Amino acid sequence: MLNYRNTNIVFLLLLLAMLAWSYQAPVAWWVWVLLLLAYSLVLFYGSYYVGSNFFMKVLCRGKGDQPWIALSFDDGPAEQYTSEILDVLGQKKVGAIFFCIGKNIAGKENVLERMHREGHLIGNHSQSHAFWFDLYQTKDMKADLTAMMDATEKTIGRRPRLFRPPYGVTTPPMRRAVDQLGIVPVGWDIRSLDTVIKNEDELLGRILRSLKSGSIVLLHDTSAATLAILPRLIDAGRARGLEWVRIDQLLNENAYA
Ligand SMILES: [Zn+2]
Repeated sequence: MLNYRNTNIVFLLLLLAMLAWSYQAPVAWWVWVLLLLAYSLVLFYGSYYVGSNFFMKVLCRGKGDQPWIALSFDDGPAEQYTSEILDVLGQKKVGAIFFCIGKNIAGKENVLERMHREGHLIGNHSQSHAFWFDLYQTKDMKADLTAMMDATEKTIGRRPRLFRPPYGVTTPPMRRAVDQLGIVPVGWDIRSLDTVIKNEDELLGRILRSLKSGSIVLLHDTSAATLAILPRLIDAGRARGLEWVRIDQLLNENAYA
């Protein structure tokens, strides 16, 4: 299995073999560079591909044995368009999870309360969503994730247990932080790219091409295009015989500690 531990073992053995060989005959400098490059590439893949389970296990879809699919919204609560998205979900009677950024809660406590009251889940998407979050060491990462849980508990009285890594990037310190805090990393199997794709039909088409039993759709409640396509997306999923359920049901995991 391709994971961090096995990769380190394989590359360490390769390195030792090359060192032993270099006593017999000189090894060209570019061979060492090539080895370093290959190692970096594997680590890069493990960090940036959320479904790789390279550094840690990340739940990216349901089992698929039921016709269940789930919506997830990152980066809120946002002035635009969290409330409007809640309106659509209410009209369509769909429960979703909002992976909120802790610092965005201040001043929008009423939006968070509304999510909770209307049967949606609140997940942890870090306190800061800092650009350098993925370079944080364990201690800073734990403090950041804890601050988000505190802010949520203060507002709705529950501590989020499901965690979506900012940018979908995972690292060894994150694995330690997640283990120590007892939280559960959750990814997605459909990256909508809704912060990039502005064309509504293109966005909807991209999601529907990959939608199947067990799917978790990554969306953002900061995207106008997402708000625009949401009713059509919900209807299209149902027209295929799929049922929108909350992610705690899809993954059979408790959303709160
Ligand atoms: Zn995010």
